[in-house]
Amino acid sequence: MDIIETLRASLGPDAVLIGDDVSSRQSGIWRQDTIKAGAIIRPVTTKQVSDALAICNEAKQSVVAHGGLTGLAKSAITEPKDIVLSLERMSEIEEINVLDRTMVVQSGVILQTLQEKAEEKGLMFPLDLGARGSCTIGGNISTNAGGNRVVRYGMTRDMVLGLEAVLADGTIVSSMNQMIKNNAGYDVKQLFIGTEGSIGIVTRAVLRLRELPRNRSTFLVAVEEFEKLSLFLKFIDASLAGSLSAFEVMWNNFYTLVTTAPANNSPPLSQDHPYYVLVESIGSDDSLIESSLASAYEQNLITDAVVSKSETQRTQLWNIRDSVEECLRFKPSYTFDVSMRISKMESYVKEINAKLSEKFGSYTNFTFGHMADGNLHLVISTGKGGPDVRAAVEKCVYEPLVAIDGSVSAEHGVGLEKKPYLSLSRSSEEIDLMRRLKSSLDPNGILNPGKIFDLV
Ligand SMILES: Cc1cc2nc3c(=O)[nH]c(=O)nc-3n(C[C@H](O)[C@H](O)[C@H](O)COP(=O)(O)OP(=O)(O)OC[C@H]3O[C@@H](n4cnc5c(N)ncnc54)[C@H](O)[C@@H]3O)c2cc1C
Repeated sequence: MDIIETLRASLGPDAVLIGDDVSSRQSGIWRQDTIKAGAIIRPVTTKQVSDALAICNEAKQSVVAHGGLTGLAKSAITEPKDIVLSLERMSEIEEINVLDRTMVVQSGVILQTLQEKAEEKGLMFPLDLGARGSCTIGGNISTNAGGNRVVRYGMTRDMVLGLEAVLADGTIVSSMNQMIKNNAGYDVKQLFIGTEGSIGIVTRAVLRLRELPRNRSTFLVAVEEFEKLSLFLKFIDASLAGSLSAFEVMWNNFYTLVTTAPANNSPPLSQDHPYYVLVESIGSDDSLIESSLASAYEQNLITDAVVSKSETQRTQLWNIRDSVEECLRFKPSYTFDVSMRISKMESYVKEINAKLSEKFGSYTNFTFGHMADGNLHLVISTGKGGPDVRAAVEKCVYEPLVAIDGSVSAEHGVGLEKKPYLSLSRSSEEIDLMRRLKSSLDPNGILNPGKIFDLV
């Protein structure tokens, strides 16, 4: 009996897809190719995940977890010999406790679904990112997703109280802690957060909820110099007394692209400023926002501003920042997610632009990001494609990070895409420890093999 039949006998026939049911599925949100894998298994319970992994481990069969496939680091890519373990049928919200302010979910729940369910109870799950309608909480946990509100609430790691995961040999590790404080020994759930499905499959989680804010203010400002961006960030964070929840910077080229047809947004501020910032405050009243902006204007930190007056206007402002897909019209384009101290950001962008210009002559580099977190996104196109061009662009972007102690991955993870560059941001001792952890928990190397680093 081959492994597919063994899995089918264990999980039931409708849990195992093969043939066209596999190859007709797109391999990722912005990818053109389809999934190449021996089968897609779709367990419904943790016990089924455990049974499936025990079978695969016995056969030394590689397994790659799939959530919403919105990841941007080629971390969920498979080869024909792999088996996909999709969490799509584990999408139950098991409990919302309004007094403990916790939510217990299966890992296949879509982020937006759980955000909305929390809101129905007057609560908020603060994680928010452009892929909210497709990404799953299991994927968010496995990539330690960041998103738009990190400056206030931290990354996914900071919002997970407990989780349940299944190790490669089928062992179920239940660490479904419901408390904010628990220092009883190692915090083992951290092994599964941000490790891209290479140490275990996350099956359930306990999420920390917050009270739903009564007032959420969103505004867009124009800034003339990078130095003033940093000063304005400091100013507005202090002025709003800790209620700042997003500070999304857009270079002029990104803003102009996403507010010009065929993009669906119109420009709320004219397109002739070097920088724009979309700012959100959770919990400040409107009069404080107005007076803070007036003061920033008087101090010449900002030169123009528009404040949303309704939920529709708020959505329109966020649509501008979320229109990243417009950059992908320039083909082929390469997306990057890097981080550094804010004080190094301006010179870093200038340096990579100089390198791109020297290497390619003409190019586009749409630049934007979660500036308060020191996180920049770059979408670069040189008009030329192929592995050599990609490698040359990557060299321009990644090498300057070394001198400024930056990171090749701020929030998207490593996957296959940044694997060759991991050593630019992590020491050999750190990478060796990663290898030792992986080898001791997954000795047959069946979970997401070849991603992040090689075992030898
Ligand atoms: C428009 C857009 C905007 C984005 N904005 C942001 C942003 O602001 N911040 C940010 O951090 N990311 C962002 N992303 C990237 C992406 O949405 C996140 O990485 C997200 O967390 C991935 O979730 P997913 O369910 O799609 O995971 P997938 O893409 O399916 O998987 C990602 C990785 O997690 C593993 N995995 C998935 N589920 C599990 C599980 N249950 N157990 C173990 N491993 C698992 C996979 O094997 C893979 O290694 C954006 C993507 C898009 C397309």
